[in-house]
Amino acid sequence: MSIPVLVINCGSSSIKYALITEQPDQHVSRISGLAENLGSADARIKGTTADNQPLELAIPHADHEQALETILSHLSQYKPQAIGHRVVHGGTLTRAELLTPEIIERIREATPLAPLHNPAHLLGIDATMRLFPQLPQVAVFDTAFHQTMPAHAYRYAIPGFLYTRHNVRRYGFHGTSHAYVSERASSLAGHFRQGGWLSAHLGNGSSTCAVWNGQSLDTSMGMTPLEGVVMGTRSGDVDPSLHGFLVHNLGWDIDQVDHMLNQQSGLLGLSELSNDMRTVIEASEQGNAYAVLALEVFCYRLAKSLAALSCALPHINGLIFTGGIGENSAYIREKTIAHLPHFGFNLSKEGNYSLKRGAEGRVDQGNGPQIWVIPTDEEGRIAHETGQVVTQPSDLQQN
Ligand code: AMP
Repeated sequence: MSIPVLVINCGSSSIKYALITEQPDQHVSRISGLAENLGSADARIKGTTADNQPLELAIPHADHEQALETILSHLSQYKPQAIGHRVVHGGTLTRAELLTPEIIERIREATPLAPLHNPAHLLGIDATMRLFPQLPQVAVFDTAFHQTMPAHAYRYAIPGFLYTRHNVRRYGFHGTSHAYVSERASSLAGHFRQGGWLSAHLGNGSSTCAVWNGQSLDTSMGMTPLEGVVMGTRSGDVDPSLHGFLVHNLGWDIDQVDHMLNQQSGLLGLSELSNDMRTVIEASEQGNAYAVLALEVFCYRLAKSLAALSCALPHINGLIFTGGIGENSAYIREKTIAHLPHFGFNLSKEGNYSLKRGAEGRVDQGNGPQIWVIPTDEEGRIAHETGQVVTQPSDLQQN
């Protein structure tokens, strides 16, 4: 059974929302928008209405609760029957959960592992619980899909007490995206949730994932979303001794190191220009040497991560590209695959470059592992999982 679900993704000063209704014929209707600059004079809501008209409202100085109240007053005629919250870090929770005081406490306990994200999600949860106590609410975690990783993939080679007493381990993120695109690709390929897939979610944040028979077996992000491949402003993997080097030799404190690795690195750090892939590609086309280098490092490290994750899979059915960069840049797809000749990928140059923006499609020549471009749908997946949780008999939820 599908019900109208309000999907909410709260940041520290923003709320992304979408009211999603899956029809019985699988058609999905969606009304979405963004409340931004919350807490400031410039706070506003921008979005679309059900008949696709633009919606723009000034809500000066509104906080999360006031913004949610305004959003819902515009959506109440569509009678949402549940709220699905995106929550980045669920600690060791393995699936979407109905929000109860215990689950909210588990989200709070995971805050040290996602200090930028979980407090904002908790603000949103707190506000919706007060405003809509009658609606069932569900948390859908970015980390949950990766809870099927085996210990040899999720443990760091550091003293065991850091894991057993302090939960220091790899968790992985972008789980709703990797779950959605791998399920979609396997279903389009005719073997739903079967086989081995390498998934590359490439957006402002990027990660790779190895999926076997519908389960994540390894992923590039770790305890936090900093580990792994090169991102917009995040470095991805560096030698952990870099921290000591900067502290002891340049006199930095640990917050400066953290800020540099999270906010000033990645494409921005290498190109010295922008964290936006389109800008970096344009500059490289005009011969900017830093931009050229940024693209080289981005694609080489991405290919290296995919090759490493292939160790998790008994067999590779295909590779999936998604996220703003993966969905839209034929150039980055081509350049990355060029680093993986021994995997037998045969990209169709024409198919790759002719794929329209926002379209899904298979872009290999048919005689090697498949290569798919699948636009991700994290909000749709959150709505779907929320619907499943709230329409399941409660005894099933407890098992
Ligand atoms: P996301 O975080 O998934 O919204 O992705 C944002 C990233 O996608 C930014 O780096 C954009 O520059 C990039 N992007 C969007 N469209 C394109 C495009 N046509 N070519 C290359 N990168 C793109």
